[in-house]
Amino acid sequence: MKTSKLAKTYRVESGKHFRLKDFDPADTGHLHSKEHAESALQQGIVRTAELQDKLYAQDTWALLLIFQAMDAAGKDGIIKHVMTGINPQGCQVYSFKTPSEPELQHDFLWRTTRSLPDRGHIGIFNRSYYEEVLVVRVHPEILKSQKLPASLVGKNIWEERFEDIRCFERHMARSGTVIRKFFLNVSKKEQKRRFLARLDEPEKNWKFSAADIRERQCWDDYQKAYEEMIGNTATEQAPWYVVPADNKWFTRLVVSTVLVDTLESLDLAYPKVDEAKRKELEAAKKILISKK
Ligand code: ATP
Ligand code: MG
Repeated sequence: MKTSKLAKTYRVESGKHFRLKDFDPADTGHLHSKEHAESALQQGIVRTAELQDKLYAQDTWALLLIFQAMDAAGKDGIIKHVMTGINPQGCQVYSFKTPSEPELQHDFLWRTTRSLPDRGHIGIFNRSYYEEVLVVRVHPEILKSQKLPASLVGKNIWEERFEDIRCFERHMARSGTVIRKFFLNVSKKEQKRRFLARLDEPEKNWKFSAADIRERQCWDDYQKAYEEMIGNTATEQAPWYVVPADNKWFTRLVVSTVLVDTLESLDLAYPKVDEAKRKELEAAKKILISKK
């Protein structure tokens, strides 16, 4: 299977008929083991580095990668993997946690908007404004703490947020920021296995937080919120990828493939040197050669 086909399998660009249960967290496509994926993974890393160099030099497009998932789905590992081989100078990573007091003084898109990637850069959001239709939806008391005027919080609040997000992403796309969104689709069973490993293995203890267990108890509510989120915000210009996440090596391969495909779909090229610049370069070369 060609890698671009692999990426398309998990791409959702319209909410019509979207059902999360149609996507198997344990899917590994036509591949059976990490060893099978190894060379494709390596090629992806090399190709990403080449393309990122052009993206940076051209300084026109920006690329925003958004990662959303349940705890222990592997966001951190994926981000580490995506970053391998990338020039850190052209990459900006942000993690979004519970909003701070100053952040609560603004609308829900404010804090992430301040962290959008510059042109020529790849921006990575570890969680994002999508938390507003996930954790806030699952725990409505958070909404109450957001200082919104009461008259603006009606029964259509989630539809309104979906609409705001769609409009925001369309605006960004029209301004040259390419957005790709990843839902790392881990199963409840695999999450349990990973939590137990975090409890049992001393080097993994630091990763565990009691809050993770509390959120796990809301599993079904989260799944529903994710389904609605994807169904309402998957668009052609800002698609979601529902990436199987029970096998980390496969998750990495899919994300890497999407990254390469996306960069390849842009008209990336090193800036052309004009006549004046060429003369300047030639003159500089003459000086360098003629003098000690
Ligand atoms: P890790 O556990 O791997 O360090 P994480 O992303 O889970 O990474 P945590 O500090 O454990 O980081 O969790 C961040 C918490 O912040 C999550 O529970 C998330 O739902 C919450 N959060 C993020 N954005 C918002 C928001 N806008 N409103 C309320 N809570 C939010
Ligand atoms: Mg956590």
